[in-house]
Amino acid sequence: MTTGSPPTTAASAVSDDPATDQPSNQTSTENSRVKLKLEDLNWDHSFVRELPGDSLTDITSREVLHACYSRVSPSAEVENPQLVVWSESVADILDLDPKEFGRSDFPYLFSGASSLKGGLSYAQCYGGHQFGVWADQLGDGRAITLGEILNSKSERWELQLKGAGKTPYSRFADGLAVLRSSIREFLCSEAMHSLGIPTTRALSLVTTGKLVSRDMFYDGNPKDEPGAIVCRVAQSFLRFGSFQIHAKRGKEDLEIVKTLADYTIKHHFPHLESMNKSDTLSFSTGDGNSDVVDLTSNKYAAWLVEVAERTASLIAKWQGVGFTHGVLNTDNMSVLGLTIDYGPFGFLDAFDPSFTPNTTDLPGRRYCFAEQPDIGSWNIGQFGLALSTAQLINKQELNYALERYGSKFMDEYQAIMTKKVGLPRYNKELIGELLNNMAVDKVDYTNFFRLLSNIKSDSDVPDKELLVPLKAALLDIGRERKEAWTSWVKRYRAELSSSGISDEERKVSMNSVNPRYILRNYLCQSAIDMAEQGDYEEVRRLLKVMERPFDDQPGMERYARLPPAWAYRPGVCMLSCSS
Ligand code: AMP
Ligand code: MG
Repeated sequence: MTTGSPPTTAASAVSDDPATDQPSNQTSTENSRVKLKLEDLNWDHSFVRELPGDSLTDITSREVLHACYSRVSPSAEVENPQLVVWSESVADILDLDPKEFGRSDFPYLFSGASSLKGGLSYAQCYGGHQFGVWADQLGDGRAITLGEILNSKSERWELQLKGAGKTPYSRFADGLAVLRSSIREFLCSEAMHSLGIPTTRALSLVTTGKLVSRDMFYDGNPKDEPGAIVCRVAQSFLRFGSFQIHAKRGKEDLEIVKTLADYTIKHHFPHLESMNKSDTLSFSTGDGNSDVVDLTSNKYAAWLVEVAERTASLIAKWQGVGFTHGVLNTDNMSVLGLTIDYGPFGFLDAFDPSFTPNTTDLPGRRYCFAEQPDIGSWNIGQFGLALSTAQLINKQELNYALERYGSKFMDEYQAIMTKKVGLPRYNKELIGELLNNMAVDKVDYTNFFRLLSNIKSDSDVPDKELLVPLKAALLDIGRERKEAWTSWVKRYRAELSSSGISDEERKVSMNSVNPRYILRNYLCQSAIDMAEQGDYEEVRRLLKVMERPFDDQPGMERYARLPPAWAYRPGVCMLSCSS
């Protein structure tokens, strides 16, 4: 049940509050942009309109058969909800007037306590493989989509509240989210976007004013934590598991796999529908057979290949910045190739290929940093099997998609690593040795690459000074290790001088791919600690810093610092799924 009603006086949760007393002007074109009021969003509910829905409306946890969604309304209780932070760039995508965020009813609308005019809310049905085991129905257990809007560029964007209350997919859980994980999801969505990595976005974060009980360490000591709700935004929140669930159920549900695939291609991969026989897109399967996979003859196979390639490209980008998702279950894999469902994620501090931010993953480290590329392939395999069960693709097409996943990943990964070291061509040996050295000496993944652009290609620098530019990253290394590093830098410098690229040019190029600032878990934690005391300034400052990760931001150097000792306490660098 929802409690509380919109206050009549203006709330002022945002420091640089847009004025709230100005007359509305829904189509004002200041800065040649459309600036809409919330009431004037252009809703278009294709998901509910075009796909089969649940015939029941009760929100008790249950199996939902033959349906892609259940109509459900937000039901999280609120009491004096507050706007913690919002994203200007997501508001811009939606053509929303920044003044809207200063409205006194904003926290009510974006906690779901009041309904947005024109919205049509629902929870999606999906399943998934969790840690390699089929878990059957999962679904939006606490995420409730408010509907889809078409922006002024005719782009479709879905708005979804995470933590808005129970749905038929909530199983034994409460349908709620806490402030700490909502801050992490909000900030990381926006940080990833600014790093150039495809991701679901975050429009706003509001506190509910209510407490939520969580057993953070799964040790039988639950704690009351402040509740919060993020409004997530993506072109679609469809997952691999959205297709798998219907394929696994078989029989009449197989038809739903096709309906959902047609829907997805129509709205999100329209270029595949317009492909015709004159497009020469035939490929050898490369497995020694003479058969050829002709993607123009089967749009579902062409689609699977595109999903595979987008996923490969996404994971290559994660590896480039040291991002570890932490829970790469197939229900957390977007068919659009977006980073989705931020749980116990973590960016690498010290380089450690076996790093996992997820305490639940510790025994097998299935989802550790170095395993992500292989897990992506395994997940594509499961997604492809769902399409194959529904007879949309054959086995050969699935094998072909997996092959394309592998080659796309290697191409992108090599290109990224090549750019990170500022060389014109991929040098496997040099990069391999570098990563090996970094792992041995636990070198900070972000700061090292940023400093590397200070190495000069001229050979006048005496050996004993070679490591000076890297000093801040090569801490506490003994003589033997210094020798190993000096030998590597010498080889690197030789490659640089034969590259023909000037030091200045290379530095600019390297700094455009090696971020100065990443959302380290300890930075999130500082912002969370303050927010839990009611001070949201650090969350807002962190957002601003992470919106420009490649720029040296004078005065913000502290956000590039290595984690302090307290960052290694439980619940900071490693988290459970409890959120
Ligand atoms: P995740 O590991 O966050 O991707 O969640 C896995 C499944 O658990 C999804 O179906 C979620 O909707 C569901 N879930 C996670 N937390 C909650 C919660 N507090 N209430 C209801 N469902 C949840
Ligand atoms: Mg999930």
